[in-house]
Amino acid sequence: MASNDVLAKLASLRHQFQQRLPNEIERLAELWDNWIQRGEDADRQALLRQLHTLKGNSGTFGFSALSAQAAQLETALDARQRNQASAVSGYSDLLVELRAAITQGDKAAPDAPHMVSNPEAESAIRPTSAPAQRPLLAYIAEENTTPDQALLNNLCVQGYDVTNAPLSSNAEQLPPWVLLDLSETQGSVRRFLAPIHHWLKQGVNVIALIDQLDFQAQLALVRAGVRHCLVRPVSVDQLLRLLKPRMGQAPAFQGRVLMLDDQHQVMHYYQTLLEASGLNVQTESDPARVFWQIEQFDPDLLLLDINMPKATGPEVARVLRLHERFATLPILFLTADFDQAAQRSDLLNIGSDDLLYKSMDEDELVQQVTARAERARQLRDQINRDALSGLNNHGAVQRASELAFARAHRQQTQSSLVVLDLDHFKAVNDRYGHDMGDQVIRTLSQLLLARFRHTDTVGRYGGEEFVILLPDTPTERAKVLTDAIRSDMSALRFTTPTGSFTVTFSAGISNARNYSSHLEQFKAADEALYQAKQGGRNQVVISPPTAAPDPTAGAPDRPA
Ligand code: GH3
Ligand code: MG
Ligand code: MG
Repeated sequence: MASNDVLAKLASLRHQFQQRLPNEIERLAELWDNWIQRGEDADRQALLRQLHTLKGNSGTFGFSALSAQAAQLETALDARQRNQASAVSGYSDLLVELRAAITQGDKAAPDAPHMVSNPEAESAIRPTSAPAQRPLLAYIAEENTTPDQALLNNLCVQGYDVTNAPLSSNAEQLPPWVLLDLSETQGSVRRFLAPIHHWLKQGVNVIALIDQLDFQAQLALVRAGVRHCLVRPVSVDQLLRLLKPRMGQAPAFQGRVLMLDDQHQVMHYYQTLLEASGLNVQTESDPARVFWQIEQFDPDLLLLDINMPKATGPEVARVLRLHERFATLPILFLTADFDQAAQRSDLLNIGSDDLLYKSMDEDELVQQVTARAERARQLRDQINRDALSGLNNHGAVQRASELAFARAHRQQTQSSLVVLDLDHFKAVNDRYGHDMGDQVIRTLSQLLLARFRHTDTVGRYGGEEFVILLPDTPTERAKVLTDAIRSDMSALRFTTPTGSFTVTFSAGISNARNYSSHLEQFKAADEALYQAKQGGRNQVVISPPTAAPDPTAGAPDRPA
């Protein structure tokens, strides 16, 4: 959605609310009269509910004076035994505000949100499917030094366009990244201070490569404004971890937020607001459906209203916390009530993360929700990630494959499973050491991450075995993709002090629709992998392995 669309949509929701205000007055007058005439507690409760809703909605839609008046009357009514007079004056003040809100007209757009004009928010809502360009990276080394050719080659294979031509002073022609290879530390930093300053000013990201963990040199770099520094020997994967998320190759964080509130308009409003900043928001008004929604939508965060008729927010939270699997889902309460602040510690005790107010600044609300969703995702990632490769770990792959299998059968789509294993990997460890072996694992991991879609699941299943789940992908297509990576991987040269070597892998692929369980599908891919190994390695075989092994695949490349 374009930012103008978001603005228009938010304005339209506000306008709709404004148009409902005359009805609000009527309804309020009716409830007020009932209570004045009969004075029963049920009448007072009905009036309080109406006021509560008005307070929350007008806070949400930016009519803050109206919200404040409704809050005042609500308080006065709550304490009516002691303060009847203030209830009466509160009521007339509220009517004044209500009428004013009605006539605020189009110019109103009260408390208009600034977030949509924020350039970051705009970029967040820009479609991400822009044609991929080879990201450009400049490699700058000091004169008379040998460039790190292995690193540059590997960056090229990973899809980066690396230049080591001198950089233009024209800002338009600067690359997004400069890799600054500093030979000796402090002196070099000093020599490069002026160019570093110029690049940073032009918005270029600078990564410094240094020789050792020299505090003074790093202090000088930090003072110069450099925020990324790697110590040699630098591995490609280390570097890619820095580059990738910023090169637009990795999708921007898209947190999933489930919102539970009994009021549709309010939810719709927050949904529009949060989605404009890149979050994915699912709304639900029935507390009884919360389990189902969590299972389906797999949110990073639950945004929970406090006052709902069927079950209160705190009650919903307590129900969720009864179950181990829902116990870790972060909950943020979103309330119209400032007096809930008194209950804040109670809410925190039942496992809520915090309390946000419906009337709070929209920018801040978006920031708070995004930051918490992101942190929750990071924590979850730590549980699901393999520490060495950064890929999904064994458990996460198993869960994902079960889901992918079920989904493929439910939606009758093709879903491919690739099981991939490095060839003769034991020999790499034996010859070049375990650390070098780890380096190979990380490099392949980065290659897999870079090449597959973010809807695919890439995992390290164990040791030197990897799994890729490709929803909506026939096995033939999966084979083409895997073969392309196989070919690139075999071209990557790993350099060590005792010589250089290349590594290959073999892979087996199976299609979910041919099997009745995900375990069977796994077994079939494993068998196809075995066929690939038997067939001479460095090849990809589809299960059932009908075709003869690919004659174009090279001979197995044993480390020499
Ligand atoms: P094949 O082509 O038949 O797969 O031969 P292979 O040598 O790759 O297979 P094998 O199962 O005999 O040996 C796998 C080796 O992978 C043994 C183990 O040392 C190594 N390995 C497993 N996990 C890791 C790891 O995390 N790091 C490193 N460096 N090596 C690992
Ligand atoms: Mg409510
Ligand atoms: Mg192996």
